[in-house]
Amino acid sequence: MPAYLYHRDPDIRVFETEIVDARPGAVRLARSWLHPGGGGQVSDRATLRSGSRTANVTGIAVEDGLWWHQLDSDERFDGPVEITIDADHRSLVSQLHTDSHILNAFVFRRFEGALVTGAQINGDGTGRMDFDLPDFDNDRLRGLEEEINAAIRAALPVETRFVPFEEARTTPGLIRSAAVAPPAGEDGTVRIVDIAGLDAQACGGTHLANTGQSRPIRITKVENKGRHNRRVRFALD
Ligand SMILES: [Zn+2]
Repeated sequence: MPAYLYHRDPDIRVFETEIVDARPGAVRLARSWLHPGGGGQVSDRATLRSGSRTANVTGIAVEDGLWWHQLDSDERFDGPVEITIDADHRSLVSQLHTDSHILNAFVFRRFEGALVTGAQINGDGTGRMDFDLPDFDNDRLRGLEEEINAAIRAALPVETRFVPFEEARTTPGLIRSAAVAPPAGEDGTVRIVDIAGLDAQACGGTHLANTGQSRPIRITKVENKGRHNRRVRFALD
């Protein structure tokens, strides 16, 4: 079973549910198709509608496994609600996140299986990835921009599947980083994101259906953050 409802139904943007708990500035929902963020990715945003009243869901705080949907209002909400996920924000984050897999794929291939040491996908069209790359020239990393944009133009299909965690753990290359590894589902499976012919890795985040849905990217900066931490910053063009 998928860890999140989002994993089962990635295209749902509007759903009805009920508030099961509330506190000032946050509610818990009976069911939620938002992505809660994690692994460096920001959470979804949404609009909550209760009768004639609305509030914005600005993020999700996961506390002891409970999802608190944070609101930009201290008003009290309860009962049935309609939730509309912010499609533009989802798209922006999914573009950057899918592009981060493409970057990761080329780094993994060109730099001897270099692993990810951190990642951050922001809601403002920028992101970064950190790699364990001790001895390489930063210009070689900057040079990947052209190949990444070629992979975007190629409109490669992106698909997801679920495999037992043990299989993911023992298959070389499927888990690139403890820092960005996805949560296992209740049955112990882990989600694999496949970019056709280019990359397969465990990931729980939001992605595009094909790479061609992304705008081109720019590699904006490559920095050395310690011997085992080469930081690549990128942005949607
Ligand atoms: Zn991912």
